[in-house]
Amino acid sequence: MYTKTHQATLDISAAGPRTVGRFAPSPTGDLHFGSLVAALASYLSVRVRNGSWHLRIEDLDEQRCHSSFAKSILKTLEVYGFEWDGKVILQSQRKHVYDEKMQWLRSNNLTYLCSCKRKNLVEAVYPGFCRNGPLDLSAATFSTRFKVSSQVVSFEDRRLGACSQDPTLTQGDFQIQRSDGFFSYHFAVVIDDLELGVTEVVRGEDLFSETTKQVCLYKALGANTPIYSHVQLAVDPHGKKLSKQNCAEALNTSNLPTALAQLESAFRHLELSKIPASDFSNPSEYLKAQVNLLSSSKTWPKWLGG
Ligand code: GLU
Repeated sequence: MYTKTHQATLDISAAGPRTVGRFAPSPTGDLHFGSLVAALASYLSVRVRNGSWHLRIEDLDEQRCHSSFAKSILKTLEVYGFEWDGKVILQSQRKHVYDEKMQWLRSNNLTYLCSCKRKNLVEAVYPGFCRNGPLDLSAATFSTRFKVSSQVVSFEDRRLGACSQDPTLTQGDFQIQRSDGFFSYHFAVVIDDLELGVTEVVRGEDLFSETTKQVCLYKALGANTPIYSHVQLAVDPHGKKLSKQNCAEALNTSNLPTALAQLESAFRHLELSKIPASDFSNPSEYLKAQVNLLSSSKTWPKWLGG
C-alpha cells in the first residue's frame, strides 16, 4: 500500500536497519531547558545504539515561525555539543511532498473536504459533519480531514508501556490541511519521519496525545510505526510546563560553565547522572563522555529502553 511515490527522497545514506532518530523543534522561540531535555533524550537514545540523529526544523506555520529562531536553535545545539547527521531538514521546503502524499490519501478515499469552522465546533471530537460532502458548498475555503476508522490503534511507548486508543472516540476525523492551506503538524511529522526512516520517536510527554493521530496515518500509508518514548516534561517551580509560549528562559550559549550546568541538570532530569559535569570544561566533551559511558553501561532508565 505504501507505494513507490512514498519512498525516501532525502539523502540519508545512514538510514536502513540502523536506529534513526530525530529532534524536530519549531522555530517559534529560543530553545529552553524543556527543549534541551527533549533534544538530549532523542540524541542519547540513538547515539547509545550507534544510530543516526537528524535535525528537522518544523517551520510550516509561517505566522509563528521565524528563521532567526531557526538560526539560534542550531547555534544553541552546537554550543551544547549536539552533532547531527546529514543536512538540516526544513519543513517549509517540503510542502510539495506533503501535497503529493495528501493527494495519494485523497485518491484512496481516505480524506474529505470540510467546510466547518473551528469556532462553530463545540465538540472536542469532530462529529464528521462533512464526511459525505462539505455542508457548505459555497464556503470560500475548505480544510482536508483524514477519515479515521473505528479500529483501536496501538503503539509501544518505552516509558509508558503498551498504549491503545479508539481514535473515533478521542480524535474523530482530524485535519491534515487547514483551510488556510497550512499542513498540520501531525501529517508533516509522519511523512517526514517515514522518509527519513525514523525508527524511534523520543520527545516530550506533551506530544503523547498527538500520537494516536500519527499512528492512524502510518496505518493508512501501510507503514510500520516507530517505537515511541515520551519523556517526562520539565516544569517550572509552579509545576507548569516550560514552553516558548510561557516565555521559558532561553538556554545560555555565551557562558560555557552555565551551559555545562544546564546540560548536567538535563541529564539528571532524565535520571542519568553518571558523571559530574565539573570534570569537564565544555558541554561537548561532557556529552561525548556520557554517551560513551551509557553505551557500555546498559543500566538505563525505562524511557531509554532499560
Ligand atoms: N515540532 C514539535 C515541537 O517543537 C515537535 C515534534 C515532534 O517531536 O514530533 O514541539
